[in-house]
Parts: sequence; C-alpha cells; structure tokens
Amino acid sequence: MSDAVPLKLFNSLTRVIETFQPVHPGEARVYSCGPTVYNYPHIGNMRAYVFADVLGRTLSFKGYDLTHVINITDVGHLTDDADAGEDKLEKAAAERAQSIWDIAKHYTEAYWADVKALNIRQPAEWSIATDYVPQMLEFAESIADKHCYKLESGLYFDVSSVADYGRLARAQTDEDEGEGRIEQVDGKRHPADFAIWRKTPEGETRQMEWDSPWGRGAPGWHLECSVMSGKLLGFPFDIHTGGIDHREIHHPNEIAQNQAFCCTNGLDVPGNSGARLWMHNNFLVERSGKMSKSSGEFLRLQLLLDKGYHPLAYRMMCLQAHYRSELEFSWKGLGAALTRLKRLVIAMDRWKALQQERHGADWHADSWEYNKKTSEPVGSFAEAIANDLNTADALTAFEECLSLKKIDPDCVLSAVCYMDRVLGLGVEHLARTDLRIAPKDTETTEMEIEDALARRKAARAEKDFATSDMIRDELAAQGVELMDGDPLGWEWKLGK
Ligand code: AMP
Ligand code: ZN
Repeated sequence: MSDAVPLKLFNSLTRVIETFQPVHPGEARVYSCGPTVYNYPHIGNMRAYVFADVLGRTLSFKGYDLTHVINITDVGHLTDDADAGEDKLEKAAAERAQSIWDIAKHYTEAYWADVKALNIRQPAEWSIATDYVPQMLEFAESIADKHCYKLESGLYFDVSSVADYGRLARAQTDEDEGEGRIEQVDGKRHPADFAIWRKTPEGETRQMEWDSPWGRGAPGWHLECSVMSGKLLGFPFDIHTGGIDHREIHHPNEIAQNQAFCCTNGLDVPGNSGARLWMHNNFLVERSGKMSKSSGEFLRLQLLLDKGYHPLAYRMMCLQAHYRSELEFSWKGLGAALTRLKRLVIAMDRWKALQQERHGADWHADSWEYNKKTSEPVGSFAEAIANDLNTADALTAFEECLSLKKIDPDCVLSAVCYMDRVLGLGVEHLARTDLRIAPKDTETTEMEIEDALARRKAARAEKDFATSDMIRDELAAQGVELMDGDPLGWEWKLGK
C-alpha cells in the first residue's frame, strides 16, 4: 500500500515538486541543520524538527531504510548568519560568566527534552559540531588552494570559484547577495565570500579555539554542516533540511563548499550540490515578537506546558498547516489544536471500548491490512502525505477513518495506528485526562478537584443543589471552571 503512490517532494533548489529517487536504492539519507545551543529553542525552531520528523516518518512509511542525522551547533554560528558579529556561544558564555561547554550541554539537553515531548523520533545520530573539528580542518585544507584565500582574520571561501553560486537563494546581483550583512570583513573579494576558518584576533581569547594552518581559531558555521553531512551520509545524499532562513546564506554556502570538495560543477545535475533535494520549512510567526529569544518571556515549549497545554497540541498545530506555509501562532489557535486532538482521543476511546466489548481483550493493532471500508481513508491519507507531505489533508483522512460506522473496531484501530506512524500524535497512548488544561502555577491538585467533583456528584444525586452549587463556587474561587455537559467531555479546566 505504502508504495502505491510515488513520494513527491518540493526541492527548493529547482523550485519544483520532484518524485523522490533515492541515491542508494531502498535507502533514504537525510541531514537536518540542528539547533545552535546557546539558548532554549523557541517553538518556531521546533517546527523545523517536527517537519523533519514528519519527513523521516514518511520515508520510513514508504518503506525506505532511513538514516537521519541532526547536528548540534556548539561552535561557529555568529550573531549574524554571515560573517559579522560574535559567536553565539562565546557571547552567551561571556555574558553569563559560564563555561561554554556547560552552556552547550544545558541547552542541548533542553532541546532533547522538547524533541521527546513532541514525539520527534531520535535520529540515527546527533552529530556535535565540536567533535568534528579535525575533519573540518581536513575538508578546509582540501579546498583551500583552489577555492579559498587568506586574510588577516582567517580563511575565506571565494564564491566565484564555483558555478551557480547562490542558486538556492536566487541571489541576482552582488548588491543583493551583500544585502542585510551588517558588517563587512576587510579584504573580502566579494560580499558573499564567507569564512571557512576564523582566526582569533590578536589580544583576544576564546573558550573554544583550535590550531590550524590559518592560525588559532574556530571553524565557520557553514563548514561544520558540510563536513558532518558528508562524513556521516556520504556525498551525494538524499535530502538536506532546514528552516527557510537557511535558504538564503547557510545552505548556499554549504552547497558551494560541497561543490568545491566533490569537484562538481554546475547545479543542473541533481546531487552536484551535495544533496539531491534541499527542503525548507516556512516560519512560525508571532505578531508581538515573543518568538525572539531576546524578548524575555519568549515562546518556548515549556511556556506552553506551564500554561497547561499538552505538548502534542503544538505538534497538532504544526500538522494542520503545510510545512511550506507560514504559520501564525496564537493561544486561541493552540487551544483549537488541543480540542482537535482531544476529539481524536475521544474517538479512539470509543473504538477501544468497543474493541474491549467485542473481543474481551486488550486491543492489538500495529499493522494495517486491506479492508474495504478503511481503504478509502487510508488511501487518501497515503496520497496526501506523498503529495509533498500534505499533513493537513492527511489529518482529515485520519479523522474520516475514526468516524467510520458499522465496522469491526480492530480494522479502524489498526488503520489509525498505521497512519499515526506518520503523524506521530501518539493517539494510541493518549488519554483524555492527559489533555486537560492545568497550568503549573495553580495550587489546586487534580486529586482535590476530582474529590470535590465526586462530592458534587453525590450531592446532585441527592438533589442537594445548594451543596452542589457551593462546591462549584469553591472550585471557581480556586480557578477551576466546571464544564457541565461539554460535548467534548472536558469536565473541568483550570483557568488560563
Ligand atoms: P537555530 O537554532 O537558530 O540554528 O535554528 C534551528 C532551526 O530552526 C533552523 O532550521 C532554523 O531555520 C529554524 N527556525 C528558526 N526560526 C524559525 C521559526 N520562527 N519558524 C520555523 N523555523 C525556524
Ligand atoms: Zn547547518
């Protein structure tokens, strides 16, 4: 079934939707640019990994043997994506008077916690940039003579030394390429030339620096991704992913380095760029600027959790939009995604109960087999997901399957679990109570609420409405809102 529809994916390099053709038959090798671990990731960053996860899950669903690598950038990423500014980690370490290694460790772990909470599957490898410095030096040495030049501040890549530089970004002129770069480095031959190796300036010290033929210093950010993707997946590999911002500077520069390293010429040949497909997720935006890590209380996943939202409500929010569309974050939108998730879980509960009734045992459904009724939604699902990961349509098909009538529950449950392997919502294991909104700063515990509810129920059964109302008012004073008769069965929620 999963092979029936060819997988089509949008390639940012050619700007067309292409049929996926693996470099190695039966395999799929994917590299995703990982987080720069100088701060917590915001939920926009996490959108990039939900997208890469759906891509990886889809490739597995289609039967490819997936090797996914995500890197951890702990060195080299400057405060400007090009060559201006300071290293983000060095800056954070100096400001907080902390070791860079401690900072990197702390934020890598925080990122991994978000990955787990969002049901993002573990990649085959988390590659840590600082583990690859010797390989970066080797790579740089191999391209230095033909493609680079030395300046007082380090080694620079000459973008005119490769064919089709900037095709990914569709840069038109020298001015366009230079636009937005706040500072220029003295002596650069072309505004788009970029640092392969940055020498530590005289009189300055860095916590992270290594010896190199171009002086003691640190690797450029673009170099690390070229090196780790090439080493771990082999050039050319199948798919390189990142957020849409990387389409402008980081990925064109990686491509130029890959061309230099592989001695490949123009970019009309698939794979000459190091990867056959370059895929980019669009941004999650928030109008009031809360996405920015410098905005104080910025939008981290933890903030959503603290306000009582289940993390998978955010995954649902991502899935409702196409990855190439901009997605606007709002609390209302998150609430709606949570409600949608809850509807799925309620429907699942109904099917599980029916299954229990019919077969008297725990249901067991891990593979979908052809069934006349479920084949329609499963077919629509497979078609949607193969159509450049149309998760919005895939979700509709998923819901259609759950609303089938007069059918063995086993068939529905197995079909749903089969589709959820791609969506990754984990509906099989979610309970209604997991999705209850319960902010962390409320003092009332769930047990106290349940206890009060039981007393209220007993009072109502005895038609003692005065006591029932009193309990309701007491709960309201503690921020608990009762929702009698709510069609979704939220008996209560804690105030926002
Ligand atoms: P960084 O930690 O800044 O290197 O970013 C990690 C990933 O998040 C990269 O793939 C970025 O392109 C992506 N990204 C950054 N901001 C957003 C956003 N607002 N929405 C979606 N993806 C983003
Ligand atoms: Zn990268």
